[in-house]
Amino acid sequence: MPLEIVTIPCRTDNYAFLLHSDETGETAVIDAPDAPPILAELKRRNWQLSEIWLTHHHYDHVDGTAELKDATGARVVGASADADRLPPLNLAMDDAGTFQFAGSAVHVFDVSGHTVGHIAFHVPDVPALFTGDSLMALGCGRVFEGTPEQMWNSLSKLAALPGDTIVCSGHEYSANNAKFAATIEKDNPRLAARIQAITDARAADQATVPTLLSEENATNPFLRANLPALKAAVGMQNASDAAVFGEIRARKDAF
Ligand code: ZN
Ligand code: FE
Repeated sequence: MPLEIVTIPCRTDNYAFLLHSDETGETAVIDAPDAPPILAELKRRNWQLSEIWLTHHHYDHVDGTAELKDATGARVVGASADADRLPPLNLAMDDAGTFQFAGSAVHVFDVSGHTVGHIAFHVPDVPALFTGDSLMALGCGRVFEGTPEQMWNSLSKLAALPGDTIVCSGHEYSANNAKFAATIEKDNPRLAARIQAITDARAADQATVPTLLSEENATNPFLRANLPALKAAVGMQNASDAAVFGEIRARKDAF
């Protein structure tokens, strides 16, 4: 029985995700922006919450943790490196660590950059990747605490996973990300098609998350800073991949 993914809109533009096994009855929620919509979805499906996996310490990803834990007794999993800023953890994970959920392995990657101590959860059995505010649909999180080099290295780790990986990221930012991506890569037909698909989905009030990693690799400018065409597009033919990433990120910050 495969694990099932459910996307839950929270707050203004956040997403939480449920990962559920019908076989074992276990359910994890990835990020806890706000408890009520998550509890309502669990109730609607008659699922019991067993785990809360936190990607990073920002309030819009952790604020529902205490209420969810009180209501369900779920164990809280997060980065050992950021344990002092996260809600109390029952399981503290290091970079490259693995734990088990419903008979499947869950791999933890340190993806510092947006924050230092940000992690992503990779479940190869699905295959799914929960990225929080690191890799996002057609974008990436702002580099608040780390360096562009750190963020580039983090994104590069994720980009190397299998192309059929389902990327579950933390916000509905795709419409704005699409407008920005169009300013970087003007002649990428897959990007043009994706921008149209995002425009159509948002006009119909549909979520544009999750996405596929192969699609991100083909269209997301923040994963493509190593390509000669992207370097030329920003006038940095001879610069390092990380420097080109930093330039694209700086342009997005000012967009
Ligand atoms: Zn954040
Ligand atoms: Fe966020």
